[in-house]
Amino acid sequence: MSLTAEIVVPLPLSQTYTYQVPETIQATLKPGHRVRVSFGHRRLIGWVVSLQKGDTKDLKSIEEQIDKEPLLIPSLLQLLVWSADYYLTPIGEVLRAILPAPLLQGSLREPKPRHRKKQEDPFHRSEKLLLTSQQREVLEKISPSLLKPKKDVFLLHGVTGSGKTEVYTALIAKALSENRESLYLVPEIGLTPQLIGRLNGLFPNQIALYHSRLSPAERYSQWLKMKRREVTIVLGTRSALFAPFSNLGLIIVDEEHDGSYKQEERFRYHARDLAIVRGHQENIPVVLGSATPSLESFYNAQRKKYIYLSLPERVLGALHSKVKLIQMGHHSDTFFSPPLIEALEKNLKEKHQSLIFLNRRGFSTLSLCPACGRRALCPHCSIALTLHKKMKILKCHYCDHQQPIHTDCPDCHIPIQQLGFGTERVETELKKIFPQARITRMDRDTMAKKDAAHTLLSQMKKKEIDILIGTQMIAKGHDYPGITLVGVLASDLLLSLPDFRAAEHNFQMLMQVAGRAGRAQHSGSVLMQTFQPDHYSIRWAQDQNYLQFYQQEIAFRKELNYPPFSRLIHLKIVGHEPSIVSKTAEQIALHLRTHGPHHLMTLLGPAPCPLEKLRGQTRWQILMKTQNYTQLKPLLKETLATLVANTIPSKIKLIVDVDPIHML
Ligand SMILES: [Zn+2]
Ligand SMILES: [Zn+2]
Repeated sequence: MSLTAEIVVPLPLSQTYTYQVPETIQATLKPGHRVRVSFGHRRLIGWVVSLQKGDTKDLKSIEEQIDKEPLLIPSLLQLLVWSADYYLTPIGEVLRAILPAPLLQGSLREPKPRHRKKQEDPFHRSEKLLLTSQQREVLEKISPSLLKPKKDVFLLHGVTGSGKTEVYTALIAKALSENRESLYLVPEIGLTPQLIGRLNGLFPNQIALYHSRLSPAERYSQWLKMKRREVTIVLGTRSALFAPFSNLGLIIVDEEHDGSYKQEERFRYHARDLAIVRGHQENIPVVLGSATPSLESFYNAQRKKYIYLSLPERVLGALHSKVKLIQMGHHSDTFFSPPLIEALEKNLKEKHQSLIFLNRRGFSTLSLCPACGRRALCPHCSIALTLHKKMKILKCHYCDHQQPIHTDCPDCHIPIQQLGFGTERVETELKKIFPQARITRMDRDTMAKKDAAHTLLSQMKKKEIDILIGTQMIAKGHDYPGITLVGVLASDLLLSLPDFRAAEHNFQMLMQVAGRAGRAQHSGSVLMQTFQPDHYSIRWAQDQNYLQFYQQEIAFRKELNYPPFSRLIHLKIVGHEPSIVSKTAEQIALHLRTHGPHHLMTLLGPAPCPLEKLRGQTRWQILMKTQNYTQLKPLLKETLATLVANTIPSKIKLIVDVDPIHML
């Protein structure tokens, strides 16, 4: 019998390659197996996608079957093939992006477990789960799909503090009792020690942690544990979606609206969307949870594609916080309005904790010479440098370029002014106003060390901090039961971004920050400083009214035919030579307009990206909108392949982003 195998190699290549299967392994070789093959002049590790009878004449032979058992289970293999096709990404690139590096290099040597000293985890909680009647009701609606199992998608809309986590953990326990594994996705894992402590307490030795902060060896070790079923639950960020569990029973995507589920390089997938695909393929329920669901998910719930469940009440009878807007004058250079100062003072006196939120780090965001108007710009990106005073540098927040600070303008020899402000400056100014208060800052600069978040959360818990200043990092995932006052310094910061989702992101962020106040016995109060008190994202955040915001936003999306009413495909044309980049972008657009499947799409552009220069490269964009991606996809794939082969110079990179989230 002649047997051939379709092999994918971990290189950015779209196709699979056909090899002859030698007789010695014909009985054992299966899809998902790793094999050694010669590829051009190299020897590579390939993965078997499929096997078929066929003509083996002129075919190279597989050299070796590497593992006894296939490493990729069929369902996972199917998901990878589907994703590569949907996201117009070479299958080899997909493999490279989601598998731990040691697996691609062919080793199966066990990474040596590092013996860490067992530390007392202050967040460890093992007491039994106690559900409120509301939580139990939700649980009972999801459970049947878990036991059947059925491929239902649930949207769990629960206000902050309503106890979604309790529902998730109860579901995981149910899955476990059915001997099935669970996948629990969160946007950011370094910030969730409370959740890890709780899961470890309830399911000792059953949890794998899987995220990008692990070293390749650690990732590999966690991957093997899942594969061998030494653990049954994985808690992780987006890449954990590809956990090699063979008897998966449940997928949870918490904070499903969060943009970090979208991978922004190489294989540009959205983990929430793929979670639904995996759920369908494996015939299991998927639970999407959020206090502020994405427009897409809520729309799907409205259309009954998803099953809508809500947890409208905070547990422990905690009250919703009262939100007050404070209009700021455009030319005032104060950071803190008098009402905010007053409230902070009162809170300090009463020994309660306060939170000051500003979604921008650094000291000042613009260094300007008042005489000649010279601004400190990043030499590699079209963006102003941010002053980091403590580190005595100017820093680019996009490419990390750093340069020393000039105190005087090199041309005019007069002092440079520092305009705009970030969290570092807020800290400095607050310390001047409240010299006795214990003030700490939480942003990417202060949280760079591995255990920094852990330490800070313990300090908050022990009430060793009076005022916490932070960026969106503080809005993600933590509980700070002691906080009764939240001050938002620039409630309109995200609205200036050139992004059709700007209002949605602004609303979600304000709702999340407001939810940090008064989670325990005390009701909280929230003060939002803003220049645009009439903007609907701010008004509905003040009322904490998701539905009203949704209705206004969905009408806008419909009118302009943006998602969820269409799908977007974003092309970026990137290169070092500006004139070649713009010329190529124009050629691509022209080709798409004349030869492309234009009856299936609307094409916008080409135009320079909002961030035209990034890391020294010039960037142009083309945006496509379509109502029928399924039909468009194969035609577009063909057109793009033709363009890459004939039109696009080798120095120019074409980036294809399907369902883009960040389009700067
Ligand atoms: Zn000057
Ligand atoms: Zn830069």
